[in-house]
Amino acid sequence: MVKIGIDVGGTGIKVGVVSEDYQIIQEDAIPTRTDIPFEEQLKLMADCVLSTIKAAGLTEDDIESVGVGIPGIASARTGEVIKCTNMGWHHVPFRDVFTKYLKKPVCIDNDANVAALAESVAGVSAGTSSSVFIPIGTGIGSGIILNGKIWSGAHHIGGELGHVIFDLDGVPCTCGNHGCLERYCSATALIRMAREAVEKNPESQIMQLAGRDISRIEAKTVFDAARNKDEVALKVFYHYTDCLAQAVASVINLLDPEVIVLGGGVSKAGSFLLDPLTEMYPKYVVFNDQPLPPVKIAVLGSEAGMIGAAMLS
Ligand SMILES: [Zn+2]
Repeated sequence: MVKIGIDVGGTGIKVGVVSEDYQIIQEDAIPTRTDIPFEEQLKLMADCVLSTIKAAGLTEDDIESVGVGIPGIASARTGEVIKCTNMGWHHVPFRDVFTKYLKKPVCIDNDANVAALAESVAGVSAGTSSSVFIPIGTGIGSGIILNGKIWSGAHHIGGELGHVIFDLDGVPCTCGNHGCLERYCSATALIRMAREAVEKNPESQIMQLAGRDISRIEAKTVFDAARNKDEVALKVFYHYTDCLAQAVASVINLLDPEVIVLGGGVSKAGSFLLDPLTEMYPKYVVFNDQPLPPVKIAVLGSEAGMIGAAMLS
C-alpha cells in the first residue's frame, strides 16, 4: 500500500505517491486555480492523484490514505478548511467534497505542521519526540511537534511564530499589527535591512551583486556579499542573525524542544548562518547554563510537504 501526499501552494499543487518507508515513488503537479469553484479545484486534485498513481504502475486500490498540507488552518478532526486565503477557502468541507471524487480516508493540516512532521519522522529531527520547525521565506511560520504529534493549538490557530510581537512600535506587518517577528526574521526582512543599508552605502558589494538595481537584492545577495566580507553586508547579516537568535531563544524559553529545525529559502545559507546563530542564541535563553536544544537545517527540502502530508494518517 502507498499513501498520497498533496502539498497545496499558492502557485502549484504537488501530488506525491509515498511508500511505506517515506520515499516519493512518483510525483506530479498542477497549477493552482483560484478562478474555478472549490468543488472543481478538488476534482482536479483528485484527477491528478489518479493519473499519478497510474504513472507509478499502481491502481486506486493501492492507496491507503490521502494527506493534504495547506497554507492555512484546518480542523484535522472534521476535515474542514477553516481559512486558506491563498486558495480563497473559508470554512469549506474539504474532506467531504474530496471523498466524492476519491473514496479514501483524507487528513488535512497546515503546511508548516506537515513539514515539521516529515522532518521529525524521516528528516533531520528523526527520532525526537519534540521539535519545532521554522520555515523562513517571505514570511515565517512554525510547526510544533510534541510527543511525536503535531500541536496546532486547541483552536487550530497556534504555531504562528511569525506574528509574535517583537517590537510594539515596529515595522507594520501584513497581519495588521506592528513589529511582528517575521518583519525582522524573514527573507523579506533581510532584504529590507539590506536595502536600507545600501541606500546609505551604495558602494557596498550588495549593489554590485544585484546589478546596481536595489529591487534585485535577494536574501542570497546579502549572504554572498557577507561571505565575501563586504562590511555593509556583514553588518546587515549579523543584525539579521541576532534577530533570528532572539526568535530561536523565544521558542526555547516557551517550549524547550529537543531540537529546532530551520527550513525555507534562508536556511539554504547552511552553516554560514547556523554557526553564528548557534553562538548568539544562548545569551537570550533564560536558563542558558543548562543543556540547550541544537538548531539544525532541514534536509527534506520541498519534498517535506508531500511526505509529511502522507504521514498525517
Ligand atoms: Zn504579523
